[in-house]
Amino acid sequence: MPHSNNRLFARLGVADTDRFKSHLTVTQLHQGEVLADAHQGLNKVYFPHGGIISCVVELKNGEGIETGMIGADGAFGAMQALDDKVSLNRVIVQVSGAASIIEVERLREVLGAVPELRALLVKYEQFFLAQVQQTAACNAVHDIHARMCRWLLRMHDLVGVDLPLTQEFLAQMMGVRRTSVTEVAGELQRAGLVTYSRGHVHIEAVARIRERACECHETLQLHYERLFQRPV
Ligand SMILES: [Zn+2]
Repeated sequence: MPHSNNRLFARLGVADTDRFKSHLTVTQLHQGEVLADAHQGLNKVYFPHGGIISCVVELKNGEGIETGMIGADGAFGAMQALDDKVSLNRVIVQVSGAASIIEVERLREVLGAVPELRALLVKYEQFFLAQVQQTAACNAVHDIHARMCRWLLRMHDLVGVDLPLTQEFLAQMMGVRRTSVTEVAGELQRAGLVTYSRGHVHIEAVARIRERACECHETLQLHYERLFQRPV
């Protein structure tokens, strides 16, 4: 599986990626796998080829609310290599997928030799911070219907039309009551925008979901484009 399935490596190019590919291994990440716990040091950096990694803030009552998703568009754990940080949140695999993985220590050495990769990782960290900030504003102001549509669009961008998710999981990640999610989900299904089958949400009409979503998805897409259009 080529490392360029990850968009950061695709941007870096084959010649530069080849300089450190002996340190990269490709592994399958499985739904539910915990990649990091809050305040835990990290020893691996993940560059997903597909699937979704979720950053989740855990509250004392046991609830966990998602603040950001990482997929083939980025990397998880790179700040550890850049600045020796610990994970601030619990980080779990939400949708299974392959990833290129490198040890933090190795990546630190690579970043000295390949500054272009360092620049890409810093840009992605900026994008991830923008995502978390947008999510805070979105959760505070936008209604559940628009938020759920926004959430489906982000997942659609990362993994396509077939999302292996239950409504219960969705409610948990969005930090809303299960009954509210069931209500909105029923409405979307009746309008023909999504269908549900055991543990899966299938997106039927992405353009119409886009019409109903709040502005946050588009705002973040623009941030991503602006950040990465600039030369490395
Ligand atoms: Zn929003």
